[in-house]
Amino acid sequence: MKYYIVQKEDELSKKIKSLLMEKIHLEYSHQQPDYVIVIGGDGTLLAAVHQFPNAIFFAIHTGHLGFYANYTLEDLDCLVEDIHHGSFIVEKLDIIQGKIETSKGSIEDFAINEMTILCPLKPLILEVKIDGIRLETFRGTGICISTSYGSTAYNKSLSGAVIDPKLKAFQLTEIAGMNSNQYRTLSSSLLLSTDRRVELEAKEHRGLVITFDQISYSLQDFNRASLFLKASQISLAHHNEKSFIDRIRRSFLKD
Ligand code: NAP
Ligand code: MN
Repeated sequence: MKYYIVQKEDELSKKIKSLLMEKIHLEYSHQQPDYVIVIGGDGTLLAAVHQFPNAIFFAIHTGHLGFYANYTLEDLDCLVEDIHHGSFIVEKLDIIQGKIETSKGSIEDFAINEMTILCPLKPLILEVKIDGIRLETFRGTGICISTSYGSTAYNKSLSGAVIDPKLKAFQLTEIAGMNSNQYRTLSSSLLLSTDRRVELEAKEHRGLVITFDQISYSLQDFNRASLFLKASQISLAHHNEKSFIDRIRRSFLKD
């Protein structure tokens, strides 16, 4: 078994990293590690998962209680025990797998929080199809598709619903939709089962951006882009399940 640590560049995270490296007696390697310990925030986990998508993640939050972190600063000894004895539980998180097809080739990536397709300069026109059936023609800045875990990130800022991570669902939320007699869209967030197939086709675009979490692709010169989404999974370890309600209250409400 090999392990690796990805940490935020602050003093506390660095200190925790050296503490753990003294205590963990497994091979330390960035070549296909079995376990990846993430020290920092939710954003640190996003970066680590994009680097090592097949590992089992142990996330320690050094700030407020995060949405992905299952170990607190008080749980460090428990985490070391779990890693040595395999005494942890693995939760499979649904992620969004996307394929962007353009006239110049295709790009494939995945998102743990959300993927977005947007145009910051001019309104974008998107044909939205679900399971091959046309839903609507959207006109506006763009569309965000988030996972249940990602519902508290960008999706929440767009007034999307906060979703219990136990629910297997994707959420389609509009980014500044321009409703008119010509372009009429649902307007409310659409919660979809993860086995549905979502397809977004850009009709016209000048400076289109597609994001997968913190990663972005600019499609300046392309004349057609379609996105096919499907669910797949990553592994997140925990010892004692932390309450989702606690996480929401401590992140967004006064404690
Ligand atoms: P960042 O600027 O460091 O982080 C953005 C913020 O989002 C951080 O406070 C981060 O928490 C928080 N966050 C990330 N995932 C979350 C989740 N699932 N639930 C609740 N909060 C979450 O950039 P980054 O670390 O690379 O993060 C990229 C993410 O930023 C994207 O996936 C997107 O969700 C989010 N974003 C939000 C907006 C918006 O709300 N208007 C716009 C663009 C992007 P930590 O402090 O714990 O890292
Ligand atoms: Mn961050």
